[in-house]
Formats: sequence, structure tokens, C-alpha cells
Amino acid sequence: MLTDAPPRKRNQAEFLKSDRTTTLDLPQNGSLPDIARRLESAMKVSAASDVRKGCAEFLATASEFYKVPPCAIRVLAARPLRVRETWATELFGDYHPETMLIRVWMRTAVRKEVTSFGTFLSTLCHEFCHHLDFQLFRFPDSWHTRGFYERTAALYHHARGTSQKRLF
Ligand SMILES: [Zn+2]
Repeated sequence: MLTDAPPRKRNQAEFLKSDRTTTLDLPQNGSLPDIARRLESAMKVSAASDVRKGCAEFLATASEFYKVPPCAIRVLAARPLRVRETWATELFGDYHPETMLIRVWMRTAVRKEVTSFGTFLSTLCHEFCHHLDFQLFRFPDSWHTRGFYERTAALYHHARGTSQKRLF
């Protein structure tokens, strides 16, 4: 887990708030796990348009639950040449706060292997949590704090129907 260094002066309080916000409300129904299962089947047969549709449905359902504006999704075959540079840890996707666009790619940059479903779904949840940082928590930036990873893990494990391991 690579966490960002705290900002020097401005936004330090917001950074700490992000770090300490370790829980995330989760829907009490099975819609996200249902969509995730459909997404997994689409990925198994490499049905690109169904993968895109599944991601869009996942994000729309999650945005509705958190009462945030919907974000757009682009599913790419491979990692684009330019990714958001300040977030060096984004290996499988990125998020642009201004356009509220999430991009995920289905192949790894180095070995061009198809990303596993677990990695793909956790990337989708990770990028959506950047969206929540701006639109729900109203943080001025979206840092990779310990709290951020806890929130991301909570959403991921809810969607996958797995129990969450605590991060230390
Ligand atoms: Zn990130």
C-alpha cells in the first residue's frame, strides 16, 4: 500500500480527515454484487461492450446510492500513454476530477496480459472512491491515505461479497 505524503501546509487538516475516515456506508441490497458478477462473466468471454456496460451500470448504481453526480466511464483495451501524472500508483485506471471521467484498461502495461477480474474491479472501486473524495467528502484533493484505502477496500469487498481484511 503506497500512501501519499501529507501536503506541506495547505490542506493538511483535510488530508488528516481523509486519513481518519476509515469507514464507508454501503448499500444494504445486492445490486452492486449482482452487477459485479455480470461484469466478471463479461470479462471471462472478453465481451468488451458488456464490460463497458457493466462498469457504467456499477458506477451509476453506486453514484445513486451516495447521491453524487454520475461519473463517466471509458474502458480501454490497453493503458493510455498519458495518465494522470501526480498519481503514480494508478496502474490500471485513472480519474479526472474536472471531467469526472474514470478510465480503466483491460491489459497491463508491461506484459500486456489481461487484467484479472479482482484487479479490474478493485481498480473500478479505487477510481470511484476518488470521485467520492471530491463529490461526497468534498476534499480539495483525493489523496491515497490509509483511510482512502480502507474506504476502497470496503466498497470492493461489498461488491465481491468477500469479507474485508483489516489493513495495518
Ligand atoms: Zn488512486
